[in-house]
Amino acid sequence: MEYFDPAETWSRDALLHAQSVRLRATLDRALRSPFYSRRLKGMDPAEIAGAEDIAKLPFTTKDDVRAAYPWDMAAVPLEELVRLHVSSGTTGVPVAVYHTRDDVETWASLMARCMYMVGIRKNDVFQNIAGYGLFTGGLGIHYGAERLGCLTIPAGTGNTRRQLKLLRDMRVAAIHIIPSYALYLGAMLMDEGVDPRSLPVRIALIGAEPHTEEIRQRIEYLLGVKAYNSYGLSEMNGPGVAFECLAQNGLHVWEDAYIAEIVDPESGRPVAEGETGELVMTTLIRRGMPLLRYRTRDLTRFLPGACACGRRHRRIDRILGRVDDMFIIKGCNIYPLQIEHILMSFPEVGGTYLIILEQADNMDQIRIQVEIREEYFIEDMRALQGLQRKIAARIRDEILVTPKIDLVEPKSLPRAEGKARRVEDRRLILK
Ligand code: ADP
Ligand code: ZN
Repeated sequence: MEYFDPAETWSRDALLHAQSVRLRATLDRALRSPFYSRRLKGMDPAEIAGAEDIAKLPFTTKDDVRAAYPWDMAAVPLEELVRLHVSSGTTGVPVAVYHTRDDVETWASLMARCMYMVGIRKNDVFQNIAGYGLFTGGLGIHYGAERLGCLTIPAGTGNTRRQLKLLRDMRVAAIHIIPSYALYLGAMLMDEGVDPRSLPVRIALIGAEPHTEEIRQRIEYLLGVKAYNSYGLSEMNGPGVAFECLAQNGLHVWEDAYIAEIVDPESGRPVAEGETGELVMTTLIRRGMPLLRYRTRDLTRFLPGACACGRRHRRIDRILGRVDDMFIIKGCNIYPLQIEHILMSFPEVGGTYLIILEQADNMDQIRIQVEIREEYFIEDMRALQGLQRKIAARIRDEILVTPKIDLVEPKSLPRAEGKARRVEDRRLILK
């Protein structure tokens, strides 16, 4: 097994030691920011002897970071900052994150480590099919690929035909792409009768939005690649926080650069080992904007056991969704991915769906618009009605509420080149 960075194979003891030293340094740096000098007022930094004391620190929430906009989180003077990113704003007002030159470099190294881990090497050509600009999946991945030494193409999103031409002409070996756009690209290849195995691409890094194992497998099939789950968030730099290894079984969180905790989203207390909860992250290396115990709002769990790849950095399960994605219908708590999981187990179902929450006769109900693949859409009415009933029944078994299912034509639902919007709540408009 080859590794990009010696830190990848540190023992648990070495990781814990580094975390303790780095946490104390982070605390010192954080205290130089206006935000943390207020938040930690009265606290004696000596109380934090090491990583095991992390729970003595207060949480930092997304609202804290928003309120600190624009400069209250800066732990260094402006002249040391070289980069600013702003999160996608999927759940509301965006947040700003700033980086020093060192920060940009460590981030690139972490990212390069992820790419090397899944088999990308410097003689591979890499195409970044992600939005550039403020979205960290653009420059974040780009700098990682260059750091690794790959010839890197900043393709951005859109213009699918040009993307394909570049893939072929440049003999691109690896791409980065958001899952919903990967499905779109795959569907287009199929429509045009292009055999994905005729393309040079071997590896796809997919992330930035929740997706099920079924979606990963579809992407692998449609694009003829191995697809690896890439997790990150702007507040923790962006991509390069946790990443799947070749085992494709959970994402290693880089524990030399972050401390990860999983807490009950209601109480904030740590969950029992292996239970699902909200991921809480602390930066250990970042200088421009250290963040302590940041509540990511993302739900996951630690996976038990050691990974065969030799890395001792703990693994998290694929993100189940955001705390804020959960909706309640007829008293049941439901996550969109539970629905996706069932939909994608039907071969007739295409890549796109939309969950609509609406009201009928003063009752909340779920309507799901499901795109059907071309070859099934031409089936006779009875077959389609049978499919509709089967999907509704399987979903009811999972979420305990019977949804209305609309089977719709391929390509009739809106497509996003950025993060897909899976749930539309029309109840608010009616109230
Ligand atoms: P925003 O929160 O506005 O979308 P970001 O662009 O920083 O801003 O996106 C980070 C968020 O995207 C994460 O908190 C998480 O909810 C989601 N995300 C990123 N990568 C993944 C992934 N691999 N699987 C599931 N969700 C992901
Ligand atoms: Zn591994």
